[in-house]
Amino acid sequence: MIVDCHTHVGEAEHLTKDFVKDAREVSGNPQQQLAVNLDEHWAAMKTVDRSIVLGFRAHNVGYVVPNEYVANYVHQHDEKLAGFASIDPHDDDAVEQLDYCMKDLGLKGLKLGPIYQNMHPSDPKFIRLFRRSEQLDIPILIHQGTTFCHNVSLEYANPVLLQPIALAFPNLRMVIAHLGHPWIGETISLIRKHRNLYSDLSALYYRPWQFYNAMVLAREYGVMHKLFLGSDYPVTTPQASIDGLRNINAPAAGTAMPTIPAEEIEAIIHRDTFAILGLS
Ligand SMILES: [Zn+2]
Repeated sequence: MIVDCHTHVGEAEHLTKDFVKDAREVSGNPQQQLAVNLDEHWAAMKTVDRSIVLGFRAHNVGYVVPNEYVANYVHQHDEKLAGFASIDPHDDDAVEQLDYCMKDLGLKGLKLGPIYQNMHPSDPKFIRLFRRSEQLDIPILIHQGTTFCHNVSLEYANPVLLQPIALAFPNLRMVIAHLGHPWIGETISLIRKHRNLYSDLSALYYRPWQFYNAMVLAREYGVMHKLFLGSDYPVTTPQASIDGLRNINAPAAGTAMPTIPAEEIEAIIHRDTFAILGLS
């Protein structure tokens, strides 16, 4: 079983404001593609057995994908895809939207991004979504880490800000995206001490020195079993992410630096993330 726990859908009409412009400028890649159609997404997933397809609703950065769009797509492939709703916490009816997405749209989890949504994770408007997710027994994938957008605040982005949430809602299953980069040590110490916190390895392999050090740190702290394969498609593909993981020891080649055993990398690649998150 190979699971990509972090993939996006969203077409050009869902990406407004400067989201794509900022991505291209900061990444230095003027060709950076963030809009995809559903056929492209489906084709990219042929490498994996299961995928989580994330909604995205952050009016602050102009990335707003209708939850119905996500639901319509994943239900064409229920045997393989699980859809996560996204809710903008600024909306007055955020909790009602979440209930609707789970009960009427058949979505299976929630995607949040405090830095994109321009709100502190401990704001009461966020807390009500964490509380409701624990009550509904659904997992959250949360982007807690930095980003390329100009008009956002890093004050909302550090993974340590999730500690009060994890303490208040101990049964809430949360996956911190991208190892919370660049606050990887913070993410590792959080997922180590909170039973229901995990992290994904998406969109990290193309910084090979950071990624190598991150995996050495994760291994030394004993959290390798809490790491999930992810691609952040369309930022990268599942195949490139798997290849990047298998190439993790490249910076150590020809040195006496530690290496990550191949079987521990394969265990991450073949982890049944759907079962761990209760999506099966
Ligand atoms: Zn993402």
